Amino acid sequence: MGVREVVFNQRERLTRLERLACKWGASRAATVATANIVVNDAFAELCRLPDCTVYGLSAGCPPHVGGTFEMRKLLTQYEWAIALKIDVPTDILLGEERFHLYRVLHEIVAAVEQAAVEKGFSRARAFAGGSCKRIFCADQPDCSVLYGGPCRHPDRARPSMSGYGIDVSRLMNAAGWQMSWITRNTSAEEVPMGALVGMVLVG
Ligand code: SF4
Repeated sequence: MGVREVVFNQRERLTRLERLACKWGASRAATVATANIVVNDAFAELCRLPDCTVYGLSAGCPPHVGGTFEMRKLLTQYEWAIALKIDVPTDILLGEERFHLYRVLHEIVAAVEQAAVEKGFSRARAFAGGSCKRIFCADQPDCSVLYGGPCRHPDRARPSMSGYGIDVSRLMNAAGWQMSWITRNTSAEEVPMGALVGMVLVG
């Protein structure tokens, strides 16, 4: 196979992964060059107490993940990422229902990761917004991994993207999307839609 065929073949596989992400529930998916993904230490710091009440409670969150140091290294080892988002009305993002959608987000990135492996991207690694403790193990006293056991949801739960300091706004811009900042004080009337975001490193 010549260089042109290899590049075409890779493009085709990436496009198929984007389509699968949308088929499985993402509102949009796009391939982004990892050179355009930005890591910001300040964003990883937001995972700490008191900003995040589940800090340290799962293997997918700081300080149990490699954080910004590991992500900067990973970004040099991968060429592409499939960025994906689920558009969500702001009033849902600010309510308890959001955890159901975070679950869907994790399930989609995990499924895209698996599909990427099957398409030859054997090192594919998925990340998603939100803490898996809150999303999958809220009714459990602890994260089993932190006590030496297996993850209760290995096919669904993925590490928190925030814990690695990914600049989600820049990621969305690189994907060609606009981001609306949603905080506890955001008015759903003024900013009616937000999004949950994940990404899968491939290539
Ligand atoms: S056991 Fe639960 S909290 Fe721990 S990594 Fe798995 S999903 Fe996350």
